Amino acid sequence: MIDRHKRLSGAAAMMLATALVGAATPAAAACKGSFAIEVLGSGGPLADDARASSAYIVWRDGEARALVDAGGGAFLRFAESGAKFETLDALLISHFHADHVSDLPAVLKSGSFSKRAKTVTIAGPAGNAYFPGLGDFLRALFDKDAGAFRYLSQYLTGEGDAPALRQAEIAIDSEQFSSVFSDGDFLIDAVAVNHGDVPALAFRVSAEGKKVVFAGDQSVLSDAFDAALEGSAPDLIIAHHAISEAPGQPRGLHRAPSAIGEMAASAGAKRLVLSHNMKRALDARREGLAAIRAVYKGKVSIADDHSCYVIAR
Ligand SMILES: [Zn+2]
Repeated sequence: MIDRHKRLSGAAAMMLATALVGAATPAAAACKGSFAIEVLGSGGPLADDARASSAYIVWRDGEARALVDAGGGAFLRFAESGAKFETLDALLISHFHADHVSDLPAVLKSGSFSKRAKTVTIAGPAGNAYFPGLGDFLRALFDKDAGAFRYLSQYLTGEGDAPALRQAEIAIDSEQFSSVFSDGDFLIDAVAVNHGDVPALAFRVSAEGKKVVFAGDQSVLSDAFDAALEGSAPDLIIAHHAISEAPGQPRGLHRAPSAIGEMAASAGAKRLVLSHNMKRALDARREGLAAIRAVYKGKVSIADDHSCYVIAR
């Protein structure tokens, strides 16, 4: 077999090298606009498809302003994206399954090296009998005396150079969006969703008069979410694609593709992106996309790690 590398001209080799370097940090160059969403992790909890677990960045004018979820791999993808911790206003945790939050300590440790002046809001759900709420979760990690990562207790105490995290624990019986953060036209709010026994939230981020909804892990029983979004015409909904239409999959935890399509149609979403892509759903993507398109007429995309969606230019 001919060694193709030896046949590359100098110019072609340079182009290939540039492309490979570019591939390592695609979003720093590409995810531009006054309001854009970058998918850091497009996968779910199984390490079977070389995708990072759930994580997203909200970009505004080239600055990472919010991190939505921080599942496994978020730390690495965050660095690859060119994001800086010190520009973040908010860390938004949809729920306390490991594939949504396991890299949070790593992101915070990295952030402890930054020259951060502003307060960062961290939002997450209140707890129940099975899961801690945001406050208990953070104390278990960072409590000054008893936390597993007590060496990062400055995030709770505010000791040191940077202010403590501002905690926004959201009631899980909330039936309407409640405000998590606001700064001018940049608004973040949260509403409870049904994810079986797991307290869980969806987040809505608004900027430039546009709206993006991070639906998170949710089942079809998310009545409050559906009612709060009905006819609101978000510019983008990111939905989690964890199961297929086939029987025997956990519909008490996740929406099947047909139910994702119904949710996007009911909201009047302009665009739908599927993330949290699990192999069992991707293997049936033809049937899944057909089930969505049977009820939802907007544009549908399946995200990869570092996929970028420019909402406003
Ligand atoms: Zn989950």
